[in-house]
Amino acid sequence: MTEYDVAAIEAAVVDLRKQVSDLHSELTRYQLVIWTGGNVSGRVPGHDLFVIKPSGVSYDELAPENMVVCDLDGNVIPGTLGSDRSPSSDTAAHAYVYRHMPHVGGVVHTHSTYATAFAARNEPIPCTITGMSDEFGGEIPVGPFAIIGDDSIGRGIVETLSGHRSRAVLMANHGPFTIGKDAKDAVKAAVMCEDVARTTHIAMQLGDLVPIPQDKIDALFDRYQNVYGQKPQGGMA
Ligand SMILES: [Zn+2]
Repeated sequence: MTEYDVAAIEAAVVDLRKQVSDLHSELTRYQLVIWTGGNVSGRVPGHDLFVIKPSGVSYDELAPENMVVCDLDGNVIPGTLGSDRSPSSDTAAHAYVYRHMPHVGGVVHTHSTYATAFAARNEPIPCTITGMSDEFGGEIPVGPFAIIGDDSIGRGIVETLSGHRSRAVLMANHGPFTIGKDAKDAVKAAVMCEDVARTTHIAMQLGDLVPIPQDKIDALFDRYQNVYGQKPQGGMA
């Protein structure tokens, strides 16, 4: 069994524990989750570790000290704060993403209503809003149908987002997973994904969507990502 320097690990994760814990309040603020659903994780800079929400703990009880520290295979690091709890049931998917997408520093999963409604129809969210061009650089794609319990969700996320501009994927019949340069960036992608899903859904009730020409999407994305100093964080497309 691997011996861990728990004191050194705790020193490395002290800020991230607070950040990941606090970011969960953004999921409730923007009404992306109900009950104990949804989860945020963040990669520990310079270590093959990440910090993730515990399983089955109410949002009111989340605190830095009950966030769970895992290695990149999703194993809880024994002796660390929170290690008496189970990590989120989606930990294997987060771990798979961190193992296979080294530029990703944060992962978020929700069942937010409008994005999940697109997932229920296995339908990508088309890019018909300039703000979506800025943020996602095109459509938000659908990933494969995958059952929780092995690597299949993680593999579906990585295969769909690798080489794609989008930081969000709608896993078929399930809901959105988002990635980012850090946990906050992944939370922003989850909030924006739900926002564009809601607006697009309402627009679809009123008539036909008007697509934005690809060259205009490209120009908007390039300007937003570069002028604002935000390099693409999806599949590094
Ligand atoms: Zn889920």
